[in-house]
Formats: sequence, C-alpha cells, structure tokens
Amino acid sequence: MIENKIVLPGDQVSTSEELSPGEGTFEEDGIIRAARLGVFSIDKKFKKALVKPLTSIPVMLKKGDIVLAEVTSVRSNMVIANVIHVVGEKRQISGDTNGTLHVSEISKGYVKDPSSEYAPGDIIRARITQVKPSLQLETRGRELGVIKAMCTRCRHPLVRKGNILECENCRNRERRKTAIDYGEYDLNKF
Ligand SMILES: [Zn+2]
Repeated sequence: MIENKIVLPGDQVSTSEELSPGEGTFEEDGIIRAARLGVFSIDKKFKKALVKPLTSIPVMLKKGDIVLAEVTSVRSNMVIANVIHVVGEKRQISGDTNGTLHVSEISKGYVKDPSSEYAPGDIIRARITQVKPSLQLETRGRELGVIKAMCTRCRHPLVRKGNILECENCRNRERRKTAIDYGEYDLNKF
C-alpha cells in the first residue's frame, strides 16, 4: 500500500511480515487493516503501519461532489446513506451528512426496488445532486455504485464473480449495483 492513500475501515494496508500494527490499525491473521477512515502512513523508525484521521478543518459538501457513503437503510422507493468522505479531500465533512438516494437515481436502467441494488452497510461512491434543503445523491454511471459490500448473512466481504457478488465464507450470492472498480477501488480516484 502506498503512503498517503485514503483507506476505509477494514481495508488491508500491509502485512505483519512488513510492518507492525500502529495507531488506527489492527492485525488479523497476518494482515494489517485500517481501523478507521483515514490516511495511511508508515512510521519508518518503528516500522509501524498508521492510519491517521482526516484533518479536522472541515469541508462543506457541494453539488457535483463525488463522495463515499455508507448505506444505512433501504426503503421501498429510496436509500438512505451517510456521507463519510469527499473523494479527493483529506478533510472531514461538516454539516448534514445524511443523504437520500431516490430509486430513479440509482441506475441508468429502470430499478423497481432499491433492495435489489443496495443493502445496509454497503459503501457506495455517489454524486451529490443537491445539498439544500436536503442532501440528495445519485449513482447513475459506471464509476458510481457499490465499491465494498459485506454478505448479508455472515458479514464477510463479498467478492465479484462476473455479474454477481459471492461470499467467500458461506458462498451466499448477492446482487448489487456495483461501480466498475468494485473490490479494487482507489479512494484517491474519481
Ligand atoms: Zn456469507
């Protein structure tokens, strides 16, 4: 993992052969992962992996921003998602982060039921279409959609297999509106 990259909680940043886990990281089965959303760096003196929090000078959300958001609930005609990061920024977000993604804004194709595309806990890349009076999102386009999802049965990561996502633990198969770089995302891109 390259230094200064922004990482999501759970992302692999290194291995225990290379580095030891430092602040903002944890180790699991020889893999060092981020414990929080932040910027990856290496303490070269102590050979430690660190994930530093985003700087607290806040950034205001604006129309057209590409953001990362965590899906918190899926309803009959909309998805509610909490915006956690503005792509390209290393600053925290200020103001209302509770966004709405209407069913018609999910995909270029017709979507009848949002639960066929997204599930709570999914990390999506979305575009802000409105900030006031309420935060509105869209995920139409190949670069937008889910970049990271967990199995709804056992919470292990889902891996892309062609057009479907599969759980490596329980083999459960699920569908999502994925972004083109699902599972191989670079949070500094788009
Ligand atoms: Zn599973």
